[in-house]
Amino acid sequence: MSERFIYFDHAATTPVRPEVLEAMLPYFDKKYGNASSIYSIARESRAAVDEAREMVANAIGAKSDEIYFTSGGTEADNWAIKGIARGSADKGKHIITTSIEHHAVLHTCQYLEKEGFDVTYLPVDEKGLISPAQVEEAIREDTILISVMFANNEIGTIQPIEEIGEIAKRHGIVFHTDAVQAVGNIHIDVKKLGVDLLSMSAHKFYGPKGVGALYIRKGTKLASYIHGGAQERGKRASTENVPGIVGMGRAIEIATQNMDSYNKKLLELREMTIDKVLATIPYTRLNGDRDKRLPGNVNFSFEFIEGESLLLLLDMAGIGASSGSACTSGSLDPSHVLLAIGLPHGIAHGSLRLTFGKDNTREDVEYLLEVLPGIVERLRRMSPLYERVKNREE
Ligand code: PLP
Repeated sequence: MSERFIYFDHAATTPVRPEVLEAMLPYFDKKYGNASSIYSIARESRAAVDEAREMVANAIGAKSDEIYFTSGGTEADNWAIKGIARGSADKGKHIITTSIEHHAVLHTCQYLEKEGFDVTYLPVDEKGLISPAQVEEAIREDTILISVMFANNEIGTIQPIEEIGEIAKRHGIVFHTDAVQAVGNIHIDVKKLGVDLLSMSAHKFYGPKGVGALYIRKGTKLASYIHGGAQERGKRASTENVPGIVGMGRAIEIATQNMDSYNKKLLELREMTIDKVLATIPYTRLNGDRDKRLPGNVNFSFEFIEGESLLLLLDMAGIGASSGSACTSGSLDPSHVLLAIGLPHGIAHGSLRLTFGKDNTREDVEYLLEVLPGIVERLRRMSPLYERVKNREE
């Protein structure tokens, strides 16, 4: 077992920044007021929630009354999709999305199909991209919603959201984007993008887990999803998670201030990893587009190995990473994203996702590049197929 631990799984979640934690702490005990009450500690909570709303709005070019706090990215996605489906069923029952969405979108769409909605799952090309033309061709008379993710959580691919936004607008169709992997990590301006609904989640940008937000463009008619009290201007009930919301606000503010310098570093780490791995480990492919991808994302498939075994050996070497296949879903199926880009099952199973973060250094990546080729070779030596291929080569 290694003494060190290097975290390369920032797409799964990120640690809360010390400044964020510090901002949150008073709202657990000293300033514990219910933001909807009227005495002074409650007014402090209300002011803190309002300030955080402003910070989130500023970070994405929105107005603060277009931001609605939720319990995370999953709820924001559910609200956007089910809210439009419920509110627009008289106009039509057709939804357009892609085959590589996060399960928060895919499973929500599949649920609506059981209720009689018709969903088009657009296929992606071998890089994981959809084209605006594909979206336009899929539009029908009864299309009520287009939902296309901003950046993919597995292969990091960034979709042409602005162009799709123009198409949606031209056809008068509501446009939602799951921007959970993008917000706080790359620049976003909802005015430029032409999106009506945008989901985000604080734990992807060094904020706390269990808090997110949905941007709802002014004028977009969206049915409520969580019913109860009058919180969030009557649209999303439940007592505000004040510490979480404060944390989200502070985290997005700091993320925005540091975005350019972090991304410069992440890009260097990403490129260094891609170049070295492809040059030193044979039978390896990079998944996703080389350029249109999140700065901190790399995703490889290594032929002749199982991603899970690779993760175990990396863990023993002190490296935390993720595979594209089974373990996250608890099933043995390879990732739907890797299958959608055309990988055969066998190759999709041998995938590795590394997502770098602000505290990773060149030394961390050099260590990875030092241990990875040996681990891959060790696992491959257990594969009879690999032996046969090698023997044929010799
Ligand atoms: N959408 C994407 C693209 C994600 O990567 C995730 C989380 O991994 C989610 C939605 C769900 O967000 P949350 O964990 O805040 O519910």
